[in-house]
Amino acid sequence: MKKVIFHIDVNSAFLSWEAANRLKENPQGEDLRLLTAAVGGDQQKRHGIILAKSISAKKFGVRTGESILEARKKCPHLLLVPANYPLYREYSQAFQKILREYTPDVEPFSIDEAFMDMTGTQLLFGEPLQAAETIRRRMKKELGFTVNIGISSNKLLAKMASDFEKPDKIHTLFPEEIQEKMWHLPVDQLFFVGRATAGKLHQMGIETIGDLAKTEKSLLKKLLKKQGETIWNFANGIDFSVVQSQPVSNKGYGNSTTMSFDVTDADTAKTVLLALSETVGTRLREHQVLAEAISVEIKDTRLKSLSHQCTLDCPTDITNEIYQTAGRLFEEAWNGSPIRLLGVSAIRVTSSRNSRQLGLFDTQDYEKWEKLDDAIDKIRGKYGKDSIQRAAFLNKKNIDHMYGKRLKFQFTDGEKEDSDK
Ligand SMILES: [Mg+2]
Repeated sequence: MKKVIFHIDVNSAFLSWEAANRLKENPQGEDLRLLTAAVGGDQQKRHGIILAKSISAKKFGVRTGESILEARKKCPHLLLVPANYPLYREYSQAFQKILREYTPDVEPFSIDEAFMDMTGTQLLFGEPLQAAETIRRRMKKELGFTVNIGISSNKLLAKMASDFEKPDKIHTLFPEEIQEKMWHLPVDQLFFVGRATAGKLHQMGIETIGDLAKTEKSLLKKLLKKQGETIWNFANGIDFSVVQSQPVSNKGYGNSTTMSFDVTDADTAKTVLLALSETVGTRLREHQVLAEAISVEIKDTRLKSLSHQCTLDCPTDITNEIYQTAGRLFEEAWNGSPIRLLGVSAIRVTSSRNSRQLGLFDTQDYEKWEKLDDAIDKIRGKYGKDSIQRAAFLNKKNIDHMYGKRLKFQFTDGEKEDSDK
């Protein structure tokens, strides 16, 4: 049977949810989405950045992720509303609840995005476009916000499709439509191609997704290792990952922390990465899933953010392996400027546990590491998370050995700069 996959993405989620909630309480009130408005973090603390903005605010040059100060310079009359995470969680749950009425195979991808496997639901809900239309209307009518829905036969293409024209739109991107709808796009709009990778591709003369698709795969592998292969597949619309429905309680597998002090040396940064890796690894093992790719996020004191990611040779849930990968990514990406925020995420997870194919030069004893994690998990499960900690944290009083209260997706709604065209 032909697979039918949906990707549903809330338009300007944080702002939309705040607006929808205000209109629910006061139907006569103004709609924040129609004003020059933005959601900003706490100005007193270090989270003072723009988390989401209206279309009008965007026209003034206000950008997601920049500091409130910068935004105000461009747009002095900007109406700022504070972030309200409990509200977002509430809306996110209501959003997912509606999706689950159409299939049990719903995979929350972030607080405002989800994949659905709609294969074989035609008799119940009609053809894919019709089912998507029903979902789109219900979100608007029952919850008061708009979504974009991408439809395809795999997750990657569905995700690319939902990012086409916004807001409140449904798009298809089936394999036969790739050339026409995807290949003309700039290569950095391809999922998984970050700024650093895009830079390398530009140097090779690769400007569009189509250029990438037509490049010799072996050349990309040489330049970008495993990631080269992955993005070549993506550019050609190939993605074998399946929709992984998760329990409602699942919080995602990313962690970031804003430090109460500026981190200026690699050693301290790595200790923080270790703490973040501990939490990510623990959560993966708890849900019996493995990370296929790891990403590290660094935000410096000018709130310039960069993230760096790589696909693992073999999916893992081992804390040490996550940490070593994160450390390597950090070293490759950090330019030495003082750091305010660090994040570690498992950006793709899988539940399939293939046996590990050891590389020729890979002498690591993974089994030993697995046993270690297993023992630590058991001790923490029984006596609490602080009952055992790595010696690396002994003299680091200002670093929590298991960062994990703030989830990555609680920090911004993950909107890309150019996403609400
Ligand atoms: Mg969104």
